[in-house]
Amino acid sequence: QPQVDLRTKELIGLEALIRWIDPIQGIISPLTFIPLAEETGMIGKIGDWVIRKACEENKRLQKLGFPAVKVAVNVSAYQFRHGDHLCEVITDSLDSTGLKSEHLSVELTESILIEDVEETISQLNRLKALGITLAVDDFGTGYSSLSYLKRFPIDILKIDQSFIRDILDDANDEAIVNAIIGMGRSLGLTVLAEGVETTAHRDYLIEQACHFAQGYLYSKPKPADELLACWQAGSLLL
Ligand code: C2E
Ligand code: CA
Ligand code: CA
Repeated sequence: QPQVDLRTKELIGLEALIRWIDPIQGIISPLTFIPLAEETGMIGKIGDWVIRKACEENKRLQKLGFPAVKVAVNVSAYQFRHGDHLCEVITDSLDSTGLKSEHLSVELTESILIEDVEETISQLNRLKALGITLAVDDFGTGYSSLSYLKRFPIDILKIDQSFIRDILDDANDEAIVNAIIGMGRSLGLTVLAEGVETTAHRDYLIEQACHFAQGYLYSKPKPADELLACWQAGSLLL
């Protein structure tokens, strides 16, 4: 799914969102199988595959003339806690595909980060040292400790879509979104709004000086080749 710069309207990234295609049931949502994979530990293997595949696909798209942007992968708690392995898989995937580290970003939810703060910081530093970008996913829904924001070497805050949905009708959501944007900017972080579905959402976020956005307004998640075709046809709605 494309991620765009609200001010320049440029494509700045793609989020890799996994789908399980079953011959009988069709497309199975990650909301169905990722929690199970996390429970059973199978997320380790799936997660490795996602990282490798995302690097591979991003490099392939770039070779075909798609803009050189970051691909963002979702990383689970299980993977984050097996940090040596995670760093190895990332390093391997970048090496074997030739993707630059500046074109990979990792999304971690708040709840993963607050589990063991000291361990988290060293883990984040090791990931950061690989040259990749670090984003906090679903920001605002976890047990945010604002003190960690300045201690963690993170680059991007992704405002959870639940706050964006009613941003124009719910004064509380509006207040929360404005506060996150203001705080993020003051801390020198990039703020990305998720779940941007309407031009009204977009215009509001531009007015509030939010940096980036992602959502159905721009594009639903699509297979890489469809995304490429849209780009070539100039119809990637940005
Ligand atoms: P997420 O990381 O918060 O991803 C955003 C979800 O919101 C995606 O759902 C996306 O399709 C959906 N979305 C994007 N724009 C809009 C919008 O404008 N409106 C609405 N209503 N929804 C929008 P999806 O693809 O079903 O993924 C659900 C969750 O599954 C993800 O939430 C993420 O937590 C997890 N997930 C997906 N792929 C992976 C993966 O490779 N590994 C892991 N560990 N988790 C994954
Ligand atoms: Ca995500
Ligand atoms: Ca999210």
